[in-house]
Amino acid sequence: MPHSPEVGSWYVVVTCQNCNFTIRLFRDLTGGKSSLDARYLVTCPHCKHQGEYEGRHYQQLPGNN
Ligand SMILES: [Zn+2]
Repeated sequence: MPHSPEVGSWYVVVTCQNCNFTIRLFRDLTGGKSSLDARYLVTCPHCKHQGEYEGRHYQQLPGNN
């Protein structure tokens, strides 16, 4: 990740199928209301597993990673 997440901000994320790491794809500027009809080819920064995922909305909360 280029910079650390901001608490209270929404992100579109996927969860790594291999290690369950939460992978943030990009900031969701709609506050969790954007439609998620895309699939993303993602390489996990944690374990390097590559997979195709549907994104989901995620709000960064204090203490969450
Ligand atoms: Zn992983």
